[in-house]
Amino acid sequence: MSDGELVLRSTRVITPEGTRAASVAVSAGTITAVLPYDAEVPAGARLEDVGEHVLLPGLVDTHVHVNDPGRTEWEGFWTATRAAAAGGITTLVDMPLNSLPPTTTVDHLRTKKAVAADKAHIDVGFWGGALPDNVKDLRPLHEAGVFGFKAFLSPSGVDEFPHLDQDRLARSLAEIASFGGLLIVHAEDPHHLGAAPQQGGPKYADFLASRPRDAEDTAIAQLIAQAKRLDARVHVLHLSSSDALPLIAAAKAEGVRITVETCPHYLTLTAEEVPDGASEFKCCPPIRESANQDLLWQALADGTIDCVVTDHSPSTADLKTDDFATAWGGISGLQLSLAAVWTQARRRGHGLEDVVRWMSTRTAALVGLDRKGAIEAGRDADFAVLAPDETFTVDPAALQHRNRVTAYAGKTLHGVVKSTWLRGERIVADGEFTDPKGELLTRTP
Ligand SMILES: [Zn+2]
Repeated sequence: MSDGELVLRSTRVITPEGTRAASVAVSAGTITAVLPYDAEVPAGARLEDVGEHVLLPGLVDTHVHVNDPGRTEWEGFWTATRAAAAGGITTLVDMPLNSLPPTTTVDHLRTKKAVAADKAHIDVGFWGGALPDNVKDLRPLHEAGVFGFKAFLSPSGVDEFPHLDQDRLARSLAEIASFGGLLIVHAEDPHHLGAAPQQGGPKYADFLASRPRDAEDTAIAQLIAQAKRLDARVHVLHLSSSDALPLIAAAKAEGVRITVETCPHYLTLTAEEVPDGASEFKCCPPIRESANQDLLWQALADGTIDCVVTDHSPSTADLKTDDFATAWGGISGLQLSLAAVWTQARRRGHGLEDVVRWMSTRTAALVGLDRKGAIEAGRDADFAVLAPDETFTVDPAALQHRNRVTAYAGKTLHGVVKSTWLRGERIVADGEFTDPKGELLTRTP
């Protein structure tokens, strides 16, 4: 057998032109051709026939908090990338916080890469961070290959990652625009948060009232204004408030360079179902009402929202107390995101092609990874093999996440990932993993 020659065959291959029976030829980790289903397998090539299971491009999750080094007890590269692989994700981009150090200087980036190098089961890239005092570090980080810069407009939850006020935002954004970079933003306005009732305690309704929609809407309006003024490229992280959708749609129509993501938990869980004290459901901005959720789905369908990412942000179980005010805010979703989104998507009449567009093609495009995000010649041979009609019930004990706290416990989901492939190698099948084969990615200049 010649080196790495492989043909993957399925009656349902999701390609940019639609779903069809096909044979995908792979050589040395790259897709060389998408051939007719019954194409002859070249002499020496290995055939992997996955039957009626769907072959889709490996998902690209651009919003993951790995927390390694420094808060490795919360999550780490080994566990996060195994969980991702088990869920059909083949590329993740790591957020610049809650690791110690945060990824806010080239030195810190080097530290993070050294930690990740031997542990990555899938490909890993890095975001940089924009802090009030690191404007001088932004260009060097860009040149060192980060995919863009994250900023908070309200307190981040960790002291070492302070937020930007509007003046600092303008300064950082101008610098980032000067080298054609991308700013990704946690958009909640601190003044609106400050004015909201801060009741505390175990009642979800009180927590929801403490993070009102207008905090998101205002911050997004301000961000749009800044992006427009500076002709800068910005991305809204984890949109929850459907009230912001008209603003975003208008900005896009006007040509403002803005993209938007939302997350599986906003699309599949509702405020109405969160039990009091259940802080595994706490994240910021919060999970809102089901009527809000319907509008987020509509916005995905019409393109106002571009993509879906996990915002996987775990902590140790002891920080998930029953007081919503003080419990750690973050939901773990890496291993379950595809199944969670697919379960709702099919119920709402969407196809797997849509899910692939939201969770692979558009996220790859967001960070300029033109070798990822689609099954077509010239791209990396990254795949998930999915049984879309099979169901499973979420058992926290079966998760690869370091901390098995999950808001999805007990839910029955559609879509079982049978195997995941990275550059033509099967990295997990039926819970069995190979040694880490992931690479550390840098932005394509
Ligand atoms: Zn996040």
